[in-house]
Amino acid sequence: MEKNAGFMKALKCRECGREYPLTATHVCEFDFGPLEVVYDYNRIKQSLIRPVIQSRPQTMWRYRELLPVAGEPTVGFQVGFTPLIKADRLARRLGVRELWVKNDTVNYPSLSFKDRVVSVALSRARELGFTTVACASTGNLANSVAANAAAAGLKAYVFIPADLEQGKVVNSLVYGAEVIGIKGHYDEVNRLCAEIAGKYGWAFVNVNMRPYYAEGSKSMGFEIIEQLGWRVPQHTVVPMASGSLLTKVQKSYQEFTKLGLAPETTYHVHGAQATGCAPISTAQKAGLDFFKPVKPNTIAKSLAIGTPADGFYALKVMKETGGAADDVTDDEVREGIRWLAECEGIFAETAGGVTVGVAKKLIVSGRIPANDSVVLCVTGNGLKTLDAVVGQVGRTREIKPSLREFEALLAHEDRVTA
Ligand SMILES: *Cc1c(COP(=O)(O)O)cnc(C)c1O
Ligand SMILES: [Zn+2]
Repeated sequence: MEKNAGFMKALKCRECGREYPLTATHVCEFDFGPLEVVYDYNRIKQSLIRPVIQSRPQTMWRYRELLPVAGEPTVGFQVGFTPLIKADRLARRLGVRELWVKNDTVNYPSLSFKDRVVSVALSRARELGFTTVACASTGNLANSVAANAAAAGLKAYVFIPADLEQGKVVNSLVYGAEVIGIKGHYDEVNRLCAEIAGKYGWAFVNVNMRPYYAEGSKSMGFEIIEQLGWRVPQHTVVPMASGSLLTKVQKSYQEFTKLGLAPETTYHVHGAQATGCAPISTAQKAGLDFFKPVKPNTIAKSLAIGTPADGFYALKVMKETGGAADDVTDDEVREGIRWLAECEGIFAETAGGVTVGVAKKLIVSGRIPANDSVVLCVTGNGLKTLDAVVGQVGRTREIKPSLREFEALLAHEDRVTA
């Protein structure tokens, strides 16, 4: 066991249970199973209690014992503790009693949930002595790595599919990161990055640093529990790309329950995808525990992973928690974006539209009973995916700067609505 490993004990293979030292590595040498961080929960129990948590700054680091850094975090200590909004108007439109929106559209600094995983991965990368960081990204991860690396003085290479939304490309370039556009889809970007990571001594946040990186997602679940007054919601709807966030939301609920921070209860974790890239939801609906890779074709580019690394485990979590999955068309994604904006004043990116759209389907079909409590994980900001909704959210009426023209317009409107 590493000395001064904080509250971490080791990396452990999810398949065979073999343990590995806490280095920059992510697969088991024996069965290629993914490695996961294991913690010393007995020690954590002694310091991580409600009053202590509540006395700490309102960031994701108030749960630092359950996040995989050995010392104090050095990157992204402002990240997290985003608002949990009681969404009564959207609840009425969706036909459910109690609805909350976990609003990571305003996460700091790069406006998506990815700041959670990146602050952990970069803090750990620094502890391990890296000076260059990198990632394979569908967009938001690139933005977050670029922003957080800039603030930390780290060199960053971000690899993205070349056809990404303008907003996401500009949001990486502006921080001075090296942005490499790959002529291919995410799965090809990822395969290339696995090769590069093996050859160069860089910390790829979602390749060789993945065990640490993925743990950052738990903070979203910790915050949901604390912000609900220390309870686990009956239903949580989570968008799925690789499926990692969904598995870590369950892990966060399990850890808080185990540590006595939330009462034992039954809960369901549901997964949301876009129909144009729905390998996990297709498998779940067919009752399979494995998925078939697909070629993505959807406006929800942040979720467009055709070979999801954690798809198998995401299916397992839904099965274990009695959760369901579903997927929505591009038009339903846009409707979801509009409903969230019109009802709650929150402008989410396409992944948010996916989550709202799937929640609607789950409620209509009774898989989420109308009388239950639901949290929607809304993970990215709409200003980054304007391309997806331009021309589809109403239109501007143009007039000359004259009161007469304005009143003519109003009168016309009255006639139309009458
Ligand atoms: C990355 C991402 C997700 C989920 O990613 P996982 O790979 O499933 O953890 C969800 N929403 C947005 C906006 C993202 O960028
Ligand atoms: Zn193994």
